[in-house]
Amino acid sequence: MFKNQVVVWFMSVGFLLGACKSPSQRIQENQADDSIVRDSLETTPPPCAGIDWSELKGNINPSSHPDFDVVPIALTRKPKIYLRKEALDALTSMAAAAKEAGFDIEVISATRSWEHQKNIWNRKWSSPKYMGFAPLERATKILEYSSMPGSSRHHWGTDVDLNALENTYFESGRGLALYEWLTAHADAFGFTQVYGDQSNGRTGYQEEKWHWSYWPLSSDYLRCYVSQPNDALFSGFQGAELSDTLGIIDRYVLGIDRPKEGTNR
Ligand SMILES: [Zn+2]
Repeated sequence: MFKNQVVVWFMSVGFLLGACKSPSQRIQENQADDSIVRDSLETTPPPCAGIDWSELKGNINPSSHPDFDVVPIALTRKPKIYLRKEALDALTSMAAAAKEAGFDIEVISATRSWEHQKNIWNRKWSSPKYMGFAPLERATKILEYSSMPGSSRHHWGTDVDLNALENTYFESGRGLALYEWLTAHADAFGFTQVYGDQSNGRTGYQEEKWHWSYWPLSSDYLRCYVSQPNDALFSGFQGAELSDTLGIIDRYVLGIDRPKEGTNR
């Protein structure tokens, strides 16, 4: 069932792209479709080539992983938080450019393991703020800004939370100026705000002006993540049995914004 959903998702994207083309363009492309599909089946690498799928669901210890480095204290007040080296290099370059423009970038959260995400999730599940809700409603409220363990992009080592975990911080004064700088320049360093304001119909998490993803890696990880069977993906935490009903993969994991057109990524 899940693979069918992925196919439908890609078909939907294809339909939207196709809708912008003239009839003659579409006819020409349809005539070429068969050979394109055959070629891509033969030449496209498997979606998880070179990627450890179990790491993407949070089975990871970045402190002892050769592909990770600690985020230096120049960029964070947290003593030991980690990113994949390629993402950290890009973030370091972006922070230097931001500094020249007069902004300090501070990493508030980076890689989180399944265990770490489980603690965040279960703490919220049992907190007074959510106790008055029935389970499905409670999970939906928590999912406004937090992921179920096993489905967080923070497992991947490519995503960061910057400066403040409140949209209001980025809506006036220094926060707004930083957000405008990020919106204009982050893409040049590979970073994308994946949880935008939903005005385009994006499903899933609410807007997060603080969450930025290193797209050159995370786009491959997303492709791998959704290619895997998810039957036993969610278990071992409060409300895990609701994952199918809530559409964690379709509505939340796939509910992201991508880099703007023209950025060639
Ligand atoms: Zn985040």
